[in-house]
Amino acid sequence: MSEFDNNYYSNISDFCEKLDSIEYINIISLEGFPIEFSKKLTREKAEAAAALAIDLLYGSREAAKDLLGKEAQEIILDVGDGSVLDVRKIKELILLVKGKRRNVEEALQSISLYLNNKKITCPYCKNNLTFAVSSCPKCSRIIPFTSRTCPSCGYNVAIKKCPYCNKLISFKGQPIRIKKDTIDTSFAIIEGSILGIASSIYFYISTNTIPISIIGGIAIGGLTSYLLYRRARVKIEADDLE
Ligand SMILES: [Zn+2]
Ligand SMILES: [Zn+2]
Repeated sequence: MSEFDNNYYSNISDFCEKLDSIEYINIISLEGFPIEFSKKLTREKAEAAAALAIDLLYGSREAAKDLLGKEAQEIILDVGDGSVLDVRKIKELILLVKGKRRNVEEALQSISLYLNNKKITCPYCKNNLTFAVSSCPKCSRIIPFTSRTCPSCGYNVAIKKCPYCNKLISFKGQPIRIKKDTIDTSFAIIEGSILGIASSIYFYISTNTIPISIIGGIAIGGLTSYLLYRRARVKIEADDLE
């Protein structure tokens, strides 16, 4: 995907339209012209917002240089009720996003991946997940698929289903390994073996027949191991969850 594709910029605004707690986005050229903006903004408002973004970013440039020794890449205006106006320069664009602070940060993270040509893809169906969204299982708000925790309620959403193929993957698109707990598994085998040997002795004493003793021991021991193994705790692992 490059700037020459028709949907290159609208992919960004479409993504923001889907997200909860993002009020609007305005994608602005370095010269201060709105390139693409949320349906919620009129052209007039988008132009005024673009002018403000340019003023904020370029106006702070000198001040930032004096204080930080570097040009400002981002200005955050806190509106006070948890909402912010975030003006950020990414590549050759200025993005202005209004919304709840954490939600804006998460959205900008996905947008930054996209603008830097980095993709998060599903390891199974290979679909691009950079602009995929998911619903938080706790607060049911629509959030970016690539969020590790829900930006609205803080719930851990590091593991989720791919929206295209429904397989469990991590928020970074890594496959998930589901492993049975080693202690529980060993316990199932040892417990089953002890019970198997004990029942085999019991069957031998009561029937005096070796085949019955062996089959009975294997059946009871095996069944016990199987049932205990099924109840063993499950551990979910992925390379990028640490
Ligand atoms: Zn949530
Ligand atoms: Zn998939």
